[in-house]
Amino acid sequence: MAVDITTDLKVVRNIGIMAHIDAGKTTTTERILFYTGISYKIGEVHDGAAVMDWMEQEQERGITITSAATTCWWKDHQINIIDTPGHVDFTAEVERSLRVLDGSVAVFDGVAGVEPQTMTVWRQANKYSVPRMCFVNKLDRTGADFFRCVDMMVERLNSTPLVLQLPIGAEGDFLGVVDLVGMRALTWRGETTMGEDYSVEEIPAELADQAAEYREKLLETLADADDAVMEKYLEGEELSVEEIEAAIRRATLADKLNPVLCGTAFKNKGVQPLLDAVVKYLPSPIDVEGIVGHAVNDEDEEIIRKPSDDEPFSGLAYKIASDPHLGQLVYVRVYSGILESGGNVLNSVTGRKERIGKVYQMHSNKREEIASVGAGQIVAVQGLKDTKTGHTLCAQNAPVILESMTFPAPVIEVA
Ligand code: GDP
Repeated sequence: MAVDITTDLKVVRNIGIMAHIDAGKTTTTERILFYTGISYKIGEVHDGAAVMDWMEQEQERGITITSAATTCWWKDHQINIIDTPGHVDFTAEVERSLRVLDGSVAVFDGVAGVEPQTMTVWRQANKYSVPRMCFVNKLDRTGADFFRCVDMMVERLNSTPLVLQLPIGAEGDFLGVVDLVGMRALTWRGETTMGEDYSVEEIPAELADQAAEYREKLLETLADADDAVMEKYLEGEELSVEEIEAAIRRATLADKLNPVLCGTAFKNKGVQPLLDAVVKYLPSPIDVEGIVGHAVNDEDEEIIRKPSDDEPFSGLAYKIASDPHLGQLVYVRVYSGILESGGNVLNSVTGRKERIGKVYQMHSNKREEIASVGAGQIVAVQGLKDTKTGHTLCAQNAPVILESMTFPAPVIEVA
């Protein structure tokens, strides 16, 4: 049965994962779906092996992460993972995907560091001020060097990395991370389990000095980016974990810095804290002021659509894909208003009316038919005849042609 989806936008994260080829984008995405698949299939799957089998089967059937947007849930948050092409040949496609996501995770190979394709995509993301986090992957590999990778983020990306974790152990002995916000150690000594897969421990004594040094650096970098932290920092006041997290979120949303985490996706170390950080630090659709468009016959007449169900419908077709079972699907990001299955919309680029066929939300293990979907969501639409990538769909009585999103997000009140 088709359902209506107008989720509280605060809990939605539309994210892309960007990486140089081979850095581990696929593995990281698979692990995310692995953990979020567990929460999605509550009661049906009882151990990790079963989940992996299930994923393999689904892959054989050709669904899973090949879809242009995959919806999953993590701790009461809906994460839509938008596929971002890793290859530089797809520059136009990368730009299009950057327009429909609200935040992004860049995955780095801990040995190779910052590689050319990442530099290219990073520059494109700079153009739209997309809030970004970094995940230094493959720390289990011989020659992996977390700190060199962070230095390269400064040198090659001209970014401001905010180191939130330090590796514990290296290469084959990579054990876990020091969490510099909570000042604790997260370690993965045992098997991958359901639920929280790491144990929380004291920071190892031999890392105490390094942890203190990097905690200080974290606060300094944060103070430079955030006035509320600067004030407390100058007065020598302690900041609570909640205050630090809120400041990291503000500074990330304003594209002033990039939180950096690390691990090894391949060995299931670090992916759960990465998901937690996505939820904590990357924006929701309502953190974006709105999308800027213009009138159909007048490019100078600006029209802004706010991310609200109460606005007239507007959406961007960002990818056309062919599904073995459903035929041609047009992936649409809804920016405002409500998109209804069976409804009529205007394609404001062609000037023609289009009828919306069935609407689907794609999960890694199933596709869900949806009757209507609200602002901020990303769905696959069947039945559109004349719509191409980059076209705007909108309410017939409220035509608009969408251009780009207005970043940075509005300044959030400091408590
Ligand atoms: P993508 O091209 O960025 O999607 O990279 P993949 O996820 O396909 O990974 C490329 C290769 O690196 C594969 O052989 C993975 O198994 C391997 N890999 C991914 N993550 C890790 C990791 O954390 N450690 C190690 N040692 N290998 C990894």
